[in-house]
Amino acid sequence: MIGAGVVGLSVAWQLLERGHRVSLVDPALREGQPPGAGSTAALGLLMAQVFRRSSGRGWRLRQQSLALWQRWRTQLEQRGHHLPFRPGLLQLATTGDERMAQQRLVEQRQAQGLPLRLLEPEELAALQPALPAGAAGGLFSPADGQIDPLPAMQALLSDGQRQGLQTHPNAVLRIERGPGPAATRWCVHTEAGSLVSPWLVVAAGLGSPALLEPLGHQRPQSPVLGQALELQLPPGCDASAWPGSVSWDGVNLVPRPEGRLWLGATVEPGLSSGTATALTALRELGGHAPAWLREATVVRHWQGLRARPDDRPAPLLEQLEPGLLLSSGHYRNGVLLAPASGAWAAEQVEQEGS
Ligand SMILES: Cc1cc2nc3c(=O)[nH]c(=O)nc-3n(C[C@H](O)[C@H](O)[C@H](O)COP(=O)(O)OP(=O)(O)OC[C@H]3O[C@@H](n4cnc5c(N)ncnc54)[C@H](O)[C@@H]3O)c2cc1C
Repeated sequence: MIGAGVVGLSVAWQLLERGHRVSLVDPALREGQPPGAGSTAALGLLMAQVFRRSSGRGWRLRQQSLALWQRWRTQLEQRGHHLPFRPGLLQLATTGDERMAQQRLVEQRQAQGLPLRLLEPEELAALQPALPAGAAGGLFSPADGQIDPLPAMQALLSDGQRQGLQTHPNAVLRIERGPGPAATRWCVHTEAGSLVSPWLVVAAGLGSPALLEPLGHQRPQSPVLGQALELQLPPGCDASAWPGSVSWDGVNLVPRPEGRLWLGATVEPGLSSGTATALTALRELGGHAPAWLREATVVRHWQGLRARPDDRPAPLLEQLEPGLLLSSGHYRNGVLLAPASGAWAAEQVEQEGS
């Protein structure tokens, strides 16, 4: 396994759970993820049932992942790990058209037996602290929610180590096809030596294309930067009274303990630092920030990169050749889709043996 972001850790943990031996290689295992990585920057929103489509691969992966996160949390918590999860997602409509689209989505989900419902403007107006005044309505999804990415990754890693996960805190320089039989068909060269294995999963986010290109696999991905803020809300203002996280015009407001709130994230192309203009638009909710949000003080500002596939839909879950799996390009939903990616990888490995 190459890559110890949320996707790589999920693949590794799922393989271990199903009885496979796993080695995980990533310099982040020694010094934490570099600023360019995505997982430590993520807000952890799990947006599955509010997804606009009701069929196809994206829909199936999201539903599978939401169910798996629930199962994985239970399993890991039974083993003494703590994975903070806040259920509920309130998606606000900014226009009448959006409100109509929400109404159609709620009807579809209710026909599927899923618990989405519309919130009336009066219900929204009664919420404290007050939501942006321009909200034309909103829908509430009790099954979606938010998981804290860092404790979740820590739980997957330490429970994996308990199950025998071998960690190698090194950068992979090169992958080679091995000379011999299936047991040695992949050779991974790191700065500290080489490893051979019958299967190799590349889950190195934006680092994946450079590892695969010399093998003849072109899977270009572009960096999309996201900035986020942690805010301390004014005294007496506590967003944990909301029924969950709130989503407004693509910006997420995630209630945090001790009167704090995460606000994010911007969507900016490229590798460089985020722009002040995008940060200001985020901070002011595009001009709709209520007074309490404008008065909040910034406690922390961070940014991270998402990997967006250039010419294929996200995520890239592919067996590129026998024994070589790619699990990357999760773009804006890597935390949500990590368990389904793990289950997919385990199925590929087990199908060969069956
Ligand atoms: C601001 C922000 C907010 C987000 N919010 C959400 C959200 O609310 N919900 C959601 O689902 N998603 C969210 N995302 C997206 C999510 O963070 C990503 O989709 C996800 O983290 C991708 O995980 P990953 O493991 O594939 O990649 P990464 O986290 O980038 O991990 C890749 C790992 O590979 C390692 N690596 C790279 N090259 C090599 C090499 N040569 N050798 C060894 N190791 C290597 C790196 O060190 C890194 O640790 C957000 C992203 C950002 C930036």
